[in-house]
Amino acid sequence: MIFENISLKRFNTFGLSIKADRLITFKLEENAVRYFRTHGVTDGDFMILGGGSNLLFIGDFHGTIVHPEMEGVFVEEKKEDYVKISCGAGIVWDKLVEQTVNYGFGGLENLSLIPGLVGAAPVQNIGAYGAEVKDTIEKVRAICLKDGSLREFSNSDCRFGYRDSAFKHELKGNYLITKIYFRLTTRPKLSLEYGSLKEEVNKLGASSLGNVRKIVINARQSKLPDPGLTGNAGSFFKNPVISISDAENMKKKYPKLPTFEDPYGSIKLAAGWLIEQCGWKGKRKGDAGISEKQALVIVNYGNATGKDIFDLSEEVKKSVFEEFGINLEREVEVIGIT
Ligand SMILES: Cc1cc2nc3c(=O)[nH]c(=O)nc-3n(C[C@H](O)[C@H](O)[C@H](O)COP(=O)(O)OP(=O)(O)OC[C@H]3O[C@@H](n4cnc5c(N)ncnc54)[C@H](O)[C@@H]3O)c2cc1C
Repeated sequence: MIFENISLKRFNTFGLSIKADRLITFKLEENAVRYFRTHGVTDGDFMILGGGSNLLFIGDFHGTIVHPEMEGVFVEEKKEDYVKISCGAGIVWDKLVEQTVNYGFGGLENLSLIPGLVGAAPVQNIGAYGAEVKDTIEKVRAICLKDGSLREFSNSDCRFGYRDSAFKHELKGNYLITKIYFRLTTRPKLSLEYGSLKEEVNKLGASSLGNVRKIVINARQSKLPDPGLTGNAGSFFKNPVISISDAENMKKKYPKLPTFEDPYGSIKLAAGWLIEQCGWKGKRKGDAGISEKQALVIVNYGNATGKDIFDLSEEVKKSVFEEFGINLEREVEVIGIT
């Protein structure tokens, strides 16, 4: 379907009243292939949009937006201890998680309630509660937007990192992800090391996929503002990753600095803590503000513009740099600022 001059309000979780010149939706992969074979796109005048939960639009988008709506979850292979499933890019991420948990397939339960669509999950290697989606992805199927050819990227082709993948770098904007192949376990080994997850699950009586999902959902609902009520895109910045020796030096100056071992061999700092120490938590500039629940989340209290939110984020970034010498990197992608 093609829509002209369309409002993007329901396509961005900041709830901004912005428009796009054109939005094209594809329910079937073959239709998208046919389209891109005949209309190869050029840089700059198009973008791919899933649920818009990791984006900040500075203004209207003058070009074409491609929105995947491919559905379908299929069991591709089932063995005694694992199952391989494929899933269309247009499915709501948490619906997939719910379904896998209900079937007793393990691997996605810690990633419950992350907003957005399945197709975006590999783009920033979504992660939460000690899990990252990369550990479950076998391959990613995508269409080259320049010529409509189909390609499959293995897990290593995706070059996953912390909130990062090749889809944010050399593959960025060139491929529309249409389907993801996951390998899940049929004998779930729960990952409960994060925070008080184990304790909370034990309180519910049994270590089950369903109980992990329940705890994660409860924790997320109490700690994060609901974008359905207050516009936001989750963590605005990534948690900074620094060397062990830099972390030791920082600890001397800030003994209360929370530090976490990073699976990639470095030390991760809590960006929310750094922002909170600079006095930003709960602060508001017009309708743009820093969440009272979590300093890492920038919120739209109603009528903030993309520029208001961006300007506030830059102020936060500046003060964290001045206090700690740490350059916060955005997790949210800003559209319209070069
Ligand atoms: C309240 C809240 C909490 C959140 N918590 C977490 C969290 O715990 N962990 C976490 O990792 N993230 C979190 N996020 C961020 C966000 O939910 C994820 O990044 C999610 O994967 C984005 O999905 P989306 O469909 O909304 O993508 P969009 O925001 O629409 O797009 C994000 C990027 O992916 C690209 N893209 C989207 N779909 C495709 C596709 N099919 N093919 C190619 N490129 C594509 C877009 O072009 C863009 O570059 C949170 C967001 C909110 C609002």
